[in-house]
Amino acid sequence: MAIIEGSELIEQLKELVGPSGYREGDDIDAKNYKDMMGARAVKPPLLLRPQNTEQISQILKACNEAKQPITPQGGMTGLVSGAAPLDGELVLSIERMKEVVEVDKFTSTMTVQAGVELQKIQEAAEENNLLFPLDLGARGSCTIGGNLATNAGGNRVIRYGMIRDMVVGVEAILADGTVIDGLHKLRKNNTGYDLKQLFIGSEGTLGVITKAVLKLAPKPNSQAVALCGLKSFDDVANFLVHAQSSLGSNLSAFEVLWNNTYQLIDEYVPSVNTPLADNFGFYVLIESMGSNTERDLELFLDALNQATEKGLIEEVVVADSDTKIRNIWAVRDGAAEVIGAGYMHAYDVSLNIDDMGYFGEEVEKRIRAKWSDTVIGLFGHIGDGNVHIIVNVGPDTRNAHLEIDEIVYTLIQELNGSISAEHGIGIMKKQFLNYSKSDPEIGLMKTLKQTMDPNGILSPGRIF
Ligand code: ZN
Repeated sequence: MAIIEGSELIEQLKELVGPSGYREGDDIDAKNYKDMMGARAVKPPLLLRPQNTEQISQILKACNEAKQPITPQGGMTGLVSGAAPLDGELVLSIERMKEVVEVDKFTSTMTVQAGVELQKIQEAAEENNLLFPLDLGARGSCTIGGNLATNAGGNRVIRYGMIRDMVVGVEAILADGTVIDGLHKLRKNNTGYDLKQLFIGSEGTLGVITKAVLKLAPKPNSQAVALCGLKSFDDVANFLVHAQSSLGSNLSAFEVLWNNTYQLIDEYVPSVNTPLADNFGFYVLIESMGSNTERDLELFLDALNQATEKGLIEEVVVADSDTKIRNIWAVRDGAAEVIGAGYMHAYDVSLNIDDMGYFGEEVEKRIRAKWSDTVIGLFGHIGDGNVHIIVNVGPDTRNAHLEIDEIVYTLIQELNGSISAEHGIGIMKKQFLNYSKSDPEIGLMKTLKQTMDPNGILSPGRIF
């Protein structure tokens, strides 16, 4: 199915977008095809950089007629190898569609083109005294279109949900070029199937998202952060219940580092200052955000005092300045930097919280039974049931990828968890999809794909 340079379709597509709307040959930047997760680097014959919805519609129409596969891409910060092209695919980048179209204070919405970076959206909301609550490490380079296509999660899901919960309307293009214009600002719109949700989290396989109307929240004006040392995972779970009932909707993050990750950060990320001793079983970063600075801080300190009195937390450091707030968050974010310090496989799974303590011990035991020198770290957004695992089993690490996957995902299946909490399936997890989805569910997904993209041109081979 691979196309030949200079073919009729290539010429047609170039004409469609004009000279600044495409790149080919050595002008294609490695970031548009080099895959940091899948170790794949297939340079596409053509990179398309359309400027608007109409051009994308025409590109897809032409590709569909020629049965030419094409992969849409955003900021290329995905973690499951979904957006880098496979052999014979063209690339459709939304990198030139960067306009914040409108911020509407009356409906608390923002209308954007798909190529706007997440951080620009956060800033545009803030300028209007509002908040776009999605936040994740790649904020500076990921795009909202990619965030939507992969249903991004991040640090504040506990309070605001996944990006799926922050969208009012979406404009998307089907594989045959049909424009599905779902752009509106109506929060209540109960008129049959919620079509935007088909595109959100479809990882580019059901359509290309071109614009969105995002839901904004009131901007909190208080922020309090503490790092706590705890003895056992039972204490972590009980502390979460306590925090939820005492802080209510002010609870905006509940992030946990297992002792193994805390030690790795101490050892491999010298730029981070760890404020507590390294002998606690677990470390909880707890954050509260609200609308009344004094009252919220009092509520936060009360909640921590009660937790100490109940014996749930052993020691606590409360940040009393913006610098210290940043420092505590840097400890949590340090977990991601450990991965770069030495080659490690990273996992993103979700579980019921009462299974998590067992999971942490058992997954280490099973991996260590095979590779006794294993270095492993667990951490994650525990308030949402989301654990990340980083693993190095020694010199075998790269080659042992599938064997480690098998151990981790088998345990997840035993505990009825999900093999992907927030990263998606892409190519890296597709052979394990049936560990978390039943045959009838996968069957229905395939029916949708067949109906919406009968020629299979959009990101073929991703998810299943
Ligand atoms: Zn995460």
